[in-house]
Amino acid sequence: MTSSETHIITRFAPSPTGYLHIGGARTALFSWAFARKHQGTFLLRIEDTDRERSTDDAIQAILDGLDWLELTPDAPPIFQHQNIERHCEIVNQMLASGIAYKCTCTKEALDDMREKAKAGGKPIRYDGTCRNKETVSGDLPFTVRFKAPLEGFTLLTDLVQGDVRVENNQLDDLILLRSDGTPTYNLSVVVDDHDMNITHVIRGDDHLTNAVRQSQIFDALSWARPAYAHIPLIHGSDGAKLSKRHGALGVEAYKDMGFLPEAMRNYLARLGWSHGDDELFSTAELVDWFDISGIGKSPARLDMEKMHATNIHHIQQGDEDVLADIIMDKLALPLTDKEKLLTALPLMKKTAKSLDNLADNLRFLFLTRPVQLNEKAVQSLTDEKMDNVRKIFPALQNLDIWDEDGIAGLFGQFMEENDVKMGQFGPAMRNMLTGAGSPLGVYDLLLLLGKDESLARLEDILTK
Ligand code: GLU
Ligand code: ZN
Repeated sequence: MTSSETHIITRFAPSPTGYLHIGGARTALFSWAFARKHQGTFLLRIEDTDRERSTDDAIQAILDGLDWLELTPDAPPIFQHQNIERHCEIVNQMLASGIAYKCTCTKEALDDMREKAKAGGKPIRYDGTCRNKETVSGDLPFTVRFKAPLEGFTLLTDLVQGDVRVENNQLDDLILLRSDGTPTYNLSVVVDDHDMNITHVIRGDDHLTNAVRQSQIFDALSWARPAYAHIPLIHGSDGAKLSKRHGALGVEAYKDMGFLPEAMRNYLARLGWSHGDDELFSTAELVDWFDISGIGKSPARLDMEKMHATNIHHIQQGDEDVLADIIMDKLALPLTDKEKLLTALPLMKKTAKSLDNLADNLRFLFLTRPVQLNEKAVQSLTDEKMDNVRKIFPALQNLDIWDEDGIAGLFGQFMEENDVKMGQFGPAMRNMLTGAGSPLGVYDLLLLLGKDESLARLEDILTK
């Protein structure tokens, strides 16, 4: 479709009237991945022309959300309201060249038109009263309408939806400029997409009708249309259009729930796009594999269980340095603790069920002595088990080389000489070392804590 010389430029164009929700995040991801795949450019355009509904908080939430997802635009964001003059200039050019006209119909006249159409069972459309007027009175308030083609049809070749053909007599003369002088959405988007040299518009299929309108405007201006890819919206697990009830939350909520950005990118990509049977993949693989032909035509369903499973996979495979920073934050650890954390992460991350769970399991490294035991841990310390730990303690004190072989040899000898099993002291020792149990075995705990700290923790409890 695109020749190899075409420099691909995509954009994400959210309206800042709320948080960056999961559907928006996916649109951004697809636009980003497509640009990355083709060494193109990914741009962000904040569509803030609705000054009433656009808020700074929403703009910040969008920027933060994209930042967290690491979907970084290749240029500073463009704020659409700053282009209003340019939009008006194009409207004036359209008036001058006769592809737009002033409409002075009053609200009452338009209401009347609508009523009549309704009563006659006809589609509610502007009837073209002003289209054929030679001049309009200069004093009356006016809107500017697009002189849409009356005959024939408009064909949109959508990269996802296929050919969309609309008879031109089905579309009326769209307002380009409101009577207060502000441009309308469809006009602004066309001008901006043109001025930004957008080659591919990837967005939700709720914009498909707009795309037909926008194509007509592109054609009338003799501007090349961008290619369009309209992706089906995301549905909830029950098949209904996604709402808050389904977990259609802002992306920051997923951050707070402990999702890794890498996992989000993986899962969001799978919502509507596929590459064979691959469910779990890295972002590098996504970029390598991404193709619009992999986007399905039917709506994908959000599945929180799958999302969690994807997250667990990415935590377990996660970059330790990245994980360490997240855990430090969660446990409010000073920077000086990072090294210690990094010694435990390779092993501990493999047991993680979530980031919170991982943080909980790593907490033991940083406990201050004497370690406080939780109730379950206290109950596990029966007399028999305590006795065994007491018996093994001097041998541990005398162990010179504190490594896995050394500890295993010592434990083996102890079990043989005293005819006890691991279960008769291992779990108890684990609880004494951590205060709350651990997914790791006692060997690993002893190694991670080191000889001095391990013995001190055991001694605190043995001498109590
Ligand atoms: N601002 C529009 C929205 O948030 C998207 C416009 C577009 O992508 O063309 O729905
Ligand atoms: Zn009119």
